[in-house]
Amino acid sequence: MASEIHLSVVIPVYNEQESIPELSHRLTEVCRSLKKGHEILFVDDGSSDGTLEAIRGVRKTDRNIAGLSLAKNSGKANAYAAGFDAARGEVVITMDGDLQDRPEQIPEFLAKIDEGYDLVTGWKYTGKGKRTWSSRLFNRLVRAWTKLDIHDTNCPFKAYRREVVKNLKVYGTLYRFIPALAYWKGYRVAEIKVENDPRKHGATKYGPGRFLGGFFDLLTVTFLTQYIKRPLHFFGLAGLVLGSAGFFIDLAIVIKGLISGRVGHQAMLLLGLVLIIIGVQFIFAGLLAEMLFRLYQEQGREVPVYRRLDG
Ligand code: UDP
Ligand code: MG
Repeated sequence: MASEIHLSVVIPVYNEQESIPELSHRLTEVCRSLKKGHEILFVDDGSSDGTLEAIRGVRKTDRNIAGLSLAKNSGKANAYAAGFDAARGEVVITMDGDLQDRPEQIPEFLAKIDEGYDLVTGWKYTGKGKRTWSSRLFNRLVRAWTKLDIHDTNCPFKAYRREVVKNLKVYGTLYRFIPALAYWKGYRVAEIKVENDPRKHGATKYGPGRFLGGFFDLLTVTFLTQYIKRPLHFFGLAGLVLGSAGFFIDLAIVIKGLISGRVGHQAMLLLGLVLIIIGVQFIFAGLLAEMLFRLYQEQGREVPVYRRLDG
């Protein structure tokens, strides 16, 4: 059967039992007004409160609401992976389950998709979630490194053309860089301003340490977007630079030794040798990475364990 679903809304929820009734009520209203087939997919990320029951409850009022339940709390990226795998819509919207994003803005995202963009990402430019200096600095770095001109890489409110979510592989904390990852695959990325309301119920799931890993992630993303298909170019360059430096240092020492007739500079000679060895190691690391990438390409993508709620 061909998909009659135009829109899938994917919402990762971890201990959000109080938010689900209002959120789904507002979503139902907005989605119905679109007059197109839609589904609302709550992905329960192994909640320990009444989130599952809340999803079952709202399903009784709107059969377009579905629930996916991850076997254990596995983080937002895995919740997205499950939601993206199950989504049947031509367009997929993601938003948080804590009422910080406004469902009423979904039509603005769809309008931008209709303009021909493959990914539309929100920019939280006001409200309590207004970007802090650390987040602004982070976004500035991301912009410089990824060369994608957007202000808010980590905004959870996004719209994707189906193909994008089926092709993206998000894991760990890489979901923060979805726009860059998509952009580097060649998709057209746009940004629209979104409101950001304060959290009504429950508490944030992330502590103050959230930015700590961000810079490593940025390195990963730079590598993934620009070198993953040619790791040898990355390692090979480093290897060549170090190896040639070592080679020329040693060459100079040998020539000097020949001219002056005495051998010296043991320390430099050693440094040269070390550099040559490290250089060769880098090149081998690059070759290994090339092999890994090939193996990885031949395997399917990993989807976390989940099941569709029935009843
Ligand atoms: N979330 C999740 N799994 C987790 C942590 C969070 O699915 O392990 C969900 C959470 O329920 C919410 C969204 O991800 O819908 C964003 O979380 P939160 O609001 O705590 O982040 P913040 O808005 O503070 O950045
Ligand atoms: Mg939140």
